[in-house]
Amino acid sequence: MRRVAVLGATGSIGTSALDVIARHPQRLRATVLAAGSNAGALVELCRRHRPEHAVIADEACFAALRDGLRDAELPTQPHCGDDVLQQLVAGDACDIVVAAIVGAAGLPSTLAAARAGKRILLANKESLVLAGELLMQAAHAGGATIVPVDSEHNAIFQCLPDAHAHAGLRRILLTASGGPFRGRRRETLGDVTPEQAVAHPKWSMGPKISVDSATLMNKGLEVIEAHHLFGVDGGRIQVLVHPQSLVHSLVEFVDGSTLAQLGLPDMRTAIAVGFGWPERIESGVSGLDMLAHGRLDFEPPDLDAFPCLRLAFEALSAGGTAPAVLNAANEVAVSAFLQRRIGFLAIPALVEDTLAALPSTPATSLAALRDADAQARRHAAQAVAARA
Ligand code: NAD
Ligand code: MG
Repeated sequence: MRRVAVLGATGSIGTSALDVIARHPQRLRATVLAAGSNAGALVELCRRHRPEHAVIADEACFAALRDGLRDAELPTQPHCGDDVLQQLVAGDACDIVVAAIVGAAGLPSTLAAARAGKRILLANKESLVLAGELLMQAAHAGGATIVPVDSEHNAIFQCLPDAHAHAGLRRILLTASGGPFRGRRRETLGDVTPEQAVAHPKWSMGPKISVDSATLMNKGLEVIEAHHLFGVDGGRIQVLVHPQSLVHSLVEFVDGSTLAQLGLPDMRTAIAVGFGWPERIESGVSGLDMLAHGRLDFEPPDLDAFPCLRLAFEALSAGGTAPAVLNAANEVAVSAFLQRRIGFLAIPALVEDTLAALPSTPATSLAALRDADAQARRHAAQAVAARA
């Protein structure tokens, strides 16, 4: 029996992970559930999955969690805060960690899991963008296995099973759905609403990543993520817009072979790969009916309408603290857009302005990266206030 900590349990990935866990009662058990501030939803999950521990990040919500668990007569122990979460993740409460907190807030727990040598199902791409080198080093030193559960990186992971495959890799082709505004020109994007931006045509996801998909920043973050996971520089990563979202990514080898992974757009496939690997286990997702889908289209991304993708490539090539600055400015901008304080086109403008204001410096320590993250958040928040 493998014991699983699901971090971000109340979110979109957390829900999918718990669905897969519940399909394998002989094999998997959720022992730790963690969420940000929705104590009611967390208590409901505890009723269903009966974990040993439940952790809420927001202190103001602890009483609601504690009382909710008591009223439901559950044996689950309530906790709050990031320190406890890191201890639980690193200790023997779990063997597997589903890292599905949204944003840079997921870094400390992901790092703790890496240092402690856990199997990490990594959805929290922001932690790799912010501190990719340190996180990969910590995983290596701690003996942790990272299985990416971003669909594209999970596809690449499946196509690169061993060191021989890595050695013969020429380039990575990352697919992108193009988001809800695919095909639109820049001039038409000024007044799009948060509701339109989060209405993703193919995937059902949390609000932050949905906006990132609409700006193509999600693909930019994924380029940086792929660089760290697979050791490939930005010049060997190409982005292809593929509106059907059935080919989840491709790898090209030096001999001219290209391998791809295909499947329905449902994150439970990638999550089941993470839990079972190298075995294959049921996920609840049906197979692909190629005749029913009929065709697979590919087109280049429009960097004029969606400059975030260009900014991410530039931050990757600048290196150092630039990706951390890109990520932090983007988190602030997306949150301001969701609160209707700035428009859609202000998201790339704010990120570009923050990158220009805070030139990259070497990212030698976690402290340097945290500092760059904090400075970028301050700069971007001031820019939001000036615009709003
Ligand atoms: P979501 O908004 O649906 O869920 C986020 C979860 O994180 C919630 O459970 C929330 O309570 C929790 N959370 C937020 N702040 C927290 C904190 N400080 N401490 C503890 N928990 C906290 O988001 P999502 O769509 O599930 O995405 C989660 C992560 O997975 C993101 O990094 C995203 O980029 C990545 N991802 C998601 C998908 C997808 O299909 N949803 C696909 C690929 C990658
Ligand atoms: Mg993805």
